[in-house]
Amino acid sequence: MSTPAGDVVLALRDVTAGYDGVAVVHEVSLEVRAGEIVALLGANGAGKTTTLLTVSGLLARTGGEIDVLGRTVPARRRASVAAIWKRARAGVAHVPEDRGLFFDLTTHENLRLGRRRDLRGRGDSVPEEQLLEWFPALSRVLDRRAGLLSGGEQQMLAIARAVVSRPRLLLIDEMSLGLAPIVVEQLLPVLRTIATDTGAGILVVEQHVALVLAVAERAYLMRQGRVVFEGPAAALRDRRDLLEEGYLGG
Ligand code: ATP
Repeated sequence: MSTPAGDVVLALRDVTAGYDGVAVVHEVSLEVRAGEIVALLGANGAGKTTTLLTVSGLLARTGGEIDVLGRTVPARRRASVAAIWKRARAGVAHVPEDRGLFFDLTTHENLRLGRRRDLRGRGDSVPEEQLLEWFPALSRVLDRRAGLLSGGEQQMLAIARAVVSRPRLLLIDEMSLGLAPIVVEQLLPVLRTIATDTGAGILVVEQHVALVLAVAERAYLMRQGRVVFEGPAAALRDRRDLLEEGYLGG
């Protein structure tokens, strides 16, 4: 099931979360709509990963409210496997910083694992041909083990595997970690195509600020666990002062 373009697929209101009772993100509010790319930016330690982990249910929030795909997520004292599974079943996919691939399995096998099946074994997954249209480089390495792929190919595989199940909300952490800017320049337009073709809302953490702001509709800039800017990506591109403050601390 896809979501009508423009519908809110993720809303955070004043969310606080952290580790061992110590909050590291404070009163974060943000929104992602169907079919749009939203960039989550900020220096190391700003709280971006913590925010994504809280959205996908891997970390429990300690305050605020989260609506995922139109439903308010109940508050819990700690993350539970059931909560993570429920969110994944509902249509949330998360590409973590380490890409979460099975290195001993081939590209093809990793893609098969991403398929969504109901209890009778039926599914409405994206066909492999469509995935290879989005990521043609993967067609050359379908039988190669994921551990032997280049960093760029691994990231393409991680994103392809995440979109196999037709997520309505796609979270991508540190998309360009370890990748050359040229690879990032190739990947970002594919995200645009996926958002447009599937209607998924995409929240992406990306360090190549100028590149991601050229593709995203909107952006949030975090600093020390708080959102210090939200607005159109084009507006943030023009705010060198804010970007310098966000990344250099002054
Ligand atoms: P990066 O770009 O370096 O990944 P980030 O913006 O994603 O940074 P987070 O990883 O969310 O930031 O970290 C926010 C804060 O939480 C940092 O001060 C970090 O040291 C702390 N932190 C992260 N993970 C843990 C953890 N497992 N236990 C305790 N503190 C943590």
